[in-house]
Amino acid sequence: MPKQTRVFRLDAKLPDGAAIGVAGRTILAGALVAFPTETVYGLGANAMDAAAVAKIFAAKGRPANDPLIAHIANFEQLPLVARDIPDLALELAQQFWPGPLTLVLKKSGGIPDNLTAGLDTVALRMPNHPVAQALLRAAARPIAAPSANKFSRPSPTRAQHVLDDLAGLVDVLLDAGPTSIGVESTILSLVDDPPRLLRPGGLSLEALRALCPALDYAPHYLGDDQVAPAPGAMLRHYSPRARLLLFSGADEAAVSAAMRAEIARCDNVGLLASDADALQFADLNIPIERLGANAEEAALRLFAAMRALDRRGLDTIVARAPEKQGLGLALWDRLLRAAAGSLIEVSADNIENYVPK
Ligand code: AMP
Ligand code: MG
Repeated sequence: MPKQTRVFRLDAKLPDGAAIGVAGRTILAGALVAFPTETVYGLGANAMDAAAVAKIFAAKGRPANDPLIAHIANFEQLPLVARDIPDLALELAQQFWPGPLTLVLKKSGGIPDNLTAGLDTVALRMPNHPVAQALLRAAARPIAAPSANKFSRPSPTRAQHVLDDLAGLVDVLLDAGPTSIGVESTILSLVDDPPRLLRPGGLSLEALRALCPALDYAPHYLGDDQVAPAPGAMLRHYSPRARLLLFSGADEAAVSAAMRAEIARCDNVGLLASDADALQFADLNIPIERLGANAEEAALRLFAAMRALDRRGLDTIVARAPEKQGLGLALWDRLLRAAAGSLIEVSADNIENYVPK
């Protein structure tokens, strides 16, 4: 276990070669490197080295049954990670890699079992961030990297978030400023027929359906007491410490009224809000974290905003569920998990008598 994390500040577009060299050698030595991708910061280790991969689970406090994503630099590395690759995977990869799309494929023999939590499938992507790409080239092998946060905490979109969770637990941190998308990759399983969306993320469902019209998305969110049929379906993920109450409904005014009623009932409450909602609720005089004017801005800010509200030691955070379109679907998924799966459905006739959990 490292005692101190070495932090290198880098230009996001033109990363310094010496720092990348140190980080690449750190990976090859079997140690951990946190690095930015376009989605969130990752906690990286040599994907071909079971002992190095085990350090990721230990540092995050991640259960061994939650598999990691392997990252590759180029198409030559694909056979190191996956086998029996279907044509559709190659078409999707040609179209969307490098980028925020993770494909679940059959696993290659060289990938250690702990990376995939014992499954014979593996999650794989090629990231589109110059620092991630430079690190992958320097290490010259696939890098296993889940998000660089403590298990179940909001994902890190800035280097400081990594330090907040993992200082002293990761050997090297490459700090290249905030990430450019802010929510994790979209995960698509190609070992299911029809292909199945396992997690909405930085690449929209609409974009995927253009190439993959049969794509199935029927999310099931499971509580801790249930046995997960698929990895990643766990609830209470991406969570702030405060309880999060997520309000939803077609009648915006009714939803607003229910949010106000709830806020009036709560002590020590804060709001996670679009710019428009922040204005609408400004009179309440409670802490508000603004998510911006659209889904793209909200994706960039969501996890930082959850962490900021947590630093205030709030008991309750109130939020409005976003539209499930484009990046909004990923936001909706993250907020629902942060709310431990309970959505408060509001309509004009139940503003006062819904039962918040
Ligand atoms: P993270 O990198 O922290 O965003 O988490 C990686 C996500 O990928 C988790 O939700 C995993 O459950 C999911 N995942 C990784 N490998 C597989 C796999 N072989 N099949 C299905 N999901 C996977
Ligand atoms: Mg994660």
